[in-house]
Amino acid sequence: MAKTQLPATMKAWVLEEFNTPYQLRDLPLPAIEDLNDLLIRVEACSYCHTDAVIAAGTVTPPTLPHIGGHEFAGTVVGLPPGKENDDDCHGYRLGDRVAVSGRGYHVCGRCRECQDPSPPLPDPPGFSVFCPLSGAGLGCHNPGGFREYAIVDARQLALIPDELTATEVAPLMCAGLTMFAAIAKCELSPGHRVGIMGCGGGLGHLGLQFASRMGLKTTGVDVAPRALQLARELETGATIIDASKETAKEVKQRMGEEDGWKLPSEMGLDVVFILPDTQKAFEYGVELVRDGGRVVVVSFPSDGFHVSAIDLVFRRIKLEGTLIGSNRAMRDMFDFCKKHGVRARKSEYPFGKLNELVQDYHAGAPGKLVLKMDMHE
Ligand SMILES: [Zn+2]
Ligand SMILES: [Zn+2]
Repeated sequence: MAKTQLPATMKAWVLEEFNTPYQLRDLPLPAIEDLNDLLIRVEACSYCHTDAVIAAGTVTPPTLPHIGGHEFAGTVVGLPPGKENDDDCHGYRLGDRVAVSGRGYHVCGRCRECQDPSPPLPDPPGFSVFCPLSGAGLGCHNPGGFREYAIVDARQLALIPDELTATEVAPLMCAGLTMFAAIAKCELSPGHRVGIMGCGGGLGHLGLQFASRMGLKTTGVDVAPRALQLARELETGATIIDASKETAKEVKQRMGEEDGWKLPSEMGLDVVFILPDTQKAFEYGVELVRDGGRVVVVSFPSDGFHVSAIDLVFRRIKLEGTLIGSNRAMRDMFDFCKKHGVRARKSEYPFGKLNELVQDYHAGAPGKLVLKMDMHE
């Protein structure tokens, strides 16, 4: 594909002060400086809870001004200096449709993590999305996808399958990948019981689809009426619990009876994923797990969670965290989504309406909220 004529400037949403709306600014088109980098025309960028955290300046605040957005997708329109129109960069060519997960931008390739990438589904030695020297990635510490054109590292990408659109892919780049990798990490088999706290949110509703279509006995828990409604509408076959109506003990008891367990210690989930950042949700999730089960924390409230040592010791609960997923996980996830029809429930907004999107997010809009660049206002 021949190089298209690129504009000299572009529009970008800029966070200039914490806790203020994003500002739409005209900026020069970013230049490719690193030989691993590509310029893409952004086609869709999805909003993540981490964007809200960054905009509030509470956890890992970036230097301001900052351009957020770490789950996006677009088309390659520029190659690194020295490359001709028909060359490739790490296998990517002009015109390729690519999915961008923010992590893995400019990894060092040499540290312990890069040489021996962490599970699950690790990438080959020499690349890890957890390289400590790559920082928090695009949209977190480096400029992300809330702009018309973006610089991305060719090593952090995946080609978008023909079956998926840019707006379908964007929400999978953090929310989807996080849930897919979190479940993969637990090495579960069909029939295992899993729970998803916050099952109607951006991550949760994708987790419900992944888990149930992997053959896991899935229980989703939420409290917000719109979130519960979305979780039920997905018709995944998962049991959906309204935590404001039933205690974890009651749910666990019922689950145990269904499975034929008699002792309270036998009852409950094998694994629970904690997506909300409230202590209440955390405790409910811990209570739902069987003795010896696993609690996987995905959220990161600035004040942390209080953990009962009694649960860790006497109930032998295993507690761990999880973060995003590898490039291999990204490709496996695409295959899974194609095969099993997993899609994010999303609301699309024109590029000019990012602040309206954010307002809707804070008002509890369920599913994923996505900027669609070519959508007209
Ligand atoms: Zn490294
Ligand atoms: Zn995210």
